[in-house]
Amino acid sequence: MTSPVAMPRPIDPADPGEDPGPSVAALDTIVSLAKRRGFIFPSSEIYGGINAVWDYGPLGVELKNNVKRAWWRAMIQERDDVEGLDAGILMAPQVWVTSGHVASFSDPMVECATCKRRYRLDELPGGESLTQTELRDPEIVTRLGLTCPNDGGPLSAPRRFNLMFQTYMGPVQDDASVVYLRPETAQGSYVNFRNVQQAMRRKLPFGIAQIGKSFRNEISPGNFVFRMREFEQMEMQYFVRPDAAADVFEQWLPRRWDWYVAYGADPARLRLREHASDELAHYARKAIDIEYRFPFGWKELEGIHDRGDFDLRSHQEASGQNLEYFDPVTNEHFVPHIVETAAGADRAPFTFLIDAYREEEVKGEKRVSLALHPQLAPYKVAVLPLLKKRPEIVELCHRIKADLKRDMMAVYDDTAAIGKLYRRQDEIGTPWCVTVDVESLEDGAVTVRDRDTMTQERIPVEGVKRAIMDRLEASRP
Ligand code: ATP
Repeated sequence: MTSPVAMPRPIDPADPGEDPGPSVAALDTIVSLAKRRGFIFPSSEIYGGINAVWDYGPLGVELKNNVKRAWWRAMIQERDDVEGLDAGILMAPQVWVTSGHVASFSDPMVECATCKRRYRLDELPGGESLTQTELRDPEIVTRLGLTCPNDGGPLSAPRRFNLMFQTYMGPVQDDASVVYLRPETAQGSYVNFRNVQQAMRRKLPFGIAQIGKSFRNEISPGNFVFRMREFEQMEMQYFVRPDAAADVFEQWLPRRWDWYVAYGADPARLRLREHASDELAHYARKAIDIEYRFPFGWKELEGIHDRGDFDLRSHQEASGQNLEYFDPVTNEHFVPHIVETAAGADRAPFTFLIDAYREEEVKGEKRVSLALHPQLAPYKVAVLPLLKKRPEIVELCHRIKADLKRDMMAVYDDTAAIGKLYRRQDEIGTPWCVTVDVESLEDGAVTVRDRDTMTQERIPVEGVKRAIMDRLEASRP
């Protein structure tokens, strides 16, 4: 995979460079399109909704699955050095003690004395650029004169709020039965390091990757699917010799950047931001975020972390199990170091949706289209009749659609005139439309229309599926 522009170096925090400005689509536009066209719905809506959970509708689940498939392809299928895993959401509670999550997986929270609303201090207006040291300063709220954005009331001093959800396992609900919903997938890969290494006869370096749900009791969720309390992650842990970690980190960074660009993220809206030393997690040696210019500002899309030997060493000490690796070449025993790539399976599709959104004027009318990468588009093709009153046309449409459906998501629609049918498919990002008209019955050919160029091409019926499959194949990064 190569990106059309070279990957930049991390920004200088003192001079972050030019802001590309808000995207074509405002956040409201994306949220309303997502709801109206069946991508994403608020959860439990008929009961007034539940904060910070969103449901993926018929088109959303296709888009999200395609994003996850694209990630799996790039991270596992097309590589020889990464294995897949699907670990449980519930884990031995000790895992989260050892990992440090029970003691310190927390964010600084402030509370309004009058309306009782709670906020994450680093997301309050005026708090966004505070350093980690400042965020821990008990005097910070008074020093900066911060007040409640809702009613202007006085805010408390920051206190740490643990983000893990806890529940009970088994019929007895006492302290001994507490378990946590995992706040990250990574720990499942660490505790399975030895299993995977032995079962797959792996030598270093190799990685373990997984996609799965994670849960965080976020203090201030919001901005649509950007910050949810139930979300999905795509994380990869790469196990290396200690002396290789720094180089391996530098290799994963452009790979991950290129992946976003190859699937449609606008590189002008991406940047790298290195964590300052006081921002690094206690175990991390180096961390660089790939940030995206969301409609609400620059925010993390994915984090690349050099975690040192913290994870395996801590689990080795706490479990009493030997998690060292024996290197047969150098005859050394050591605890592997880990380079992690941690992405979100909700933030990535969100980004692709934002960058795909187009508005233009065609023949005096507003045309909205989603220029989604064909690999990510929910439907690859729509089959449309020019005249739904002619049974032979409709019958041919269904025959073509049924054949296409054996290999890809295809849809038939006859509920409007052709112009409107095209516009509907444009708006959900369908890359190709196949139209059957009266002439098709005579010459055995149909029209294939391209979403982005709007050009039309006549193709014999028997060659339609091959043509679409060739285009899909050619679109692969
Ligand atoms: P943030 O600083 O935005 O809270 P984080 O640094 O805590 O994120 P990580 O722990 O590195 O995030 O998680 C890896 C990835 O998981 C993030 O880059 C993001 O894409 C995704 N992610 C994390 N928290 C959420 C959430 N609450 N909702 C949706 N996606 C999330």
